[in-house]
Amino acid sequence: MVDLFIDGAWTAGSSGTADVVNPFDATVVRAVDQAGPADVEHAVAAARTAFDGGPWRTTPASERGALLRRVADLLIRDKEAIAHTETLDTGKTLVESRVDVDDVTAVFRYYADLAGADAGRVVDVGQPHVLSRVVREPVGVCVLITPWNYPLLQLSWKLAPALAAGNTCVIKPSEVTPLTSVLLVRLLEEAGVPRGVVNIVLGDGPTVGAPLTEHPDVDMVSFTGGLTTGQAIIRASAATVKRVAVELGGKNPNIVFADTDFDLAVDYALTAVFLHSGQVCSAGARLIVQDEMHDDLVAEVGRRADRIRLGNGLDDATESGPLVSAAHRTKIEGFVASALAGGARLVAGGRRPEDPDLQRGYFYRPTVLADVHRDMRVIREETFGPILTVERFADEDQAIALGNDTGYGLAGAVWTADMGRAHRVASALRHGTVWINDYHPYVPAAEWGGMKRSGNGRELGPTGLAEYQEHKHVWHNTAPKPMRWFAG
Ligand code: NAD
Repeated sequence: MVDLFIDGAWTAGSSGTADVVNPFDATVVRAVDQAGPADVEHAVAAARTAFDGGPWRTTPASERGALLRRVADLLIRDKEAIAHTETLDTGKTLVESRVDVDDVTAVFRYYADLAGADAGRVVDVGQPHVLSRVVREPVGVCVLITPWNYPLLQLSWKLAPALAAGNTCVIKPSEVTPLTSVLLVRLLEEAGVPRGVVNIVLGDGPTVGAPLTEHPDVDMVSFTGGLTTGQAIIRASAATVKRVAVELGGKNPNIVFADTDFDLAVDYALTAVFLHSGQVCSAGARLIVQDEMHDDLVAEVGRRADRIRLGNGLDDATESGPLVSAAHRTKIEGFVASALAGGARLVAGGRRPEDPDLQRGYFYRPTVLADVHRDMRVIREETFGPILTVERFADEDQAIALGNDTGYGLAGAVWTADMGRAHRVASALRHGTVWINDYHPYVPAAEWGGMKRSGNGRELGPTGLAEYQEHKHVWHNTAPKPMRWFAG
């Protein structure tokens, strides 16, 4: 089996292979083909030719939508196999992987329905003989670069709207977790995507990602990943003035007022941060609790965190899987060590598990840290791991100030029984998503994205389609008269 899909054909790539590792036990899942510079050139050329020569961009939008709907049907058919692969690749539980496949299916269906739904508009310019219309056209060749935590899901948020809008694509998944992206491209091929419209190249950032972002024949880069990579991509795009959409990290506050039901507050504080071992851009890593509830909540969240069952994602009894790699675990250990050195109090975790069955994988116990302060790295930086910090506040103003005291602005939550206060806080928070008395839900029809250093674009919803469209104004003067602007 070969893994690169370029110009409608599967190919091995020119840079050998790289092992994909199961984070549960550090075994090799399989070796995947790696692209080299020639493959990057080939993929961009194929996407360019398919865009410029058509017929994809001039295909009726309803037909593009029909293709997306066929992909959704194939996802349902292959759900178990894809979820299984996602768990082997990322370490997340099978339950989470199944939810991911369901969500991806919903995203393809949503954009299948939206394709062509907005055909542009006629503008009344006050001159009856002038027909003025604004039409939506595809941007062109789009490079889609994705991270390792939600490989399939993040790709669907880009690929489905890009295709619905009539673009051609070159996909560059994370080198850490590329397997399900390849499976998705196989489904697109089966669904009948025309030659060159979808291409996938595997490899790391410097070898494959960077040349794609600098390439003069690429019109747009849509990137989800870390802040420093996003900054590098914005810089790289400057020379060719590409359209760039970046979805970056988060440092997300989960604010709990003392009038919240205690059991709900505990339950959701755990889910907010420890889902997928905290490797979630919107993880509620900062629990911010009103004084009256603070001590009890810290104690109970710590007690429950200590009971989370770690294990193999394929095992039904497992509640949380490993971290994605040894290097990532080392980074998480560094965050905890520096917080403890700075005076934080360890309430739970703070260590690797002792279970002999988990020694080969990259496990780390869910960790709760209290008595933290704003200057600690664990508060200022995204950890992207199973670390919950707890801060306290006295009143609403202080809660808002703490919630906004971050360079990021991706997501956050407010918990209270007072709905007036809930909506005041929600409107004061500078985050792209705010949940009231909930955490984590999203729907394909509602926009997702960050403020401040969490990003500059929006995925999902109608805006998620518009990101992949140009708005062109066509002015038709049906009865031109001499203008005589220049007398001679
Ligand atoms: P990363 O930035 O290390 O890598 C992301 C992708 O960029 C990978 O495919 C990588 O190969 C590629 N890349 C690396 N260097 C590149 C370069 N110079 N040019 C082009 N491409 C390059 O991120 P990661 O560690 O894979 O993912 C974790 C990050 O993703 C976290 O910060 C997380 O918050 C963020 N994330 C954000 C969202 C969101 O919706 N905002 C969703 C998921 C993940």
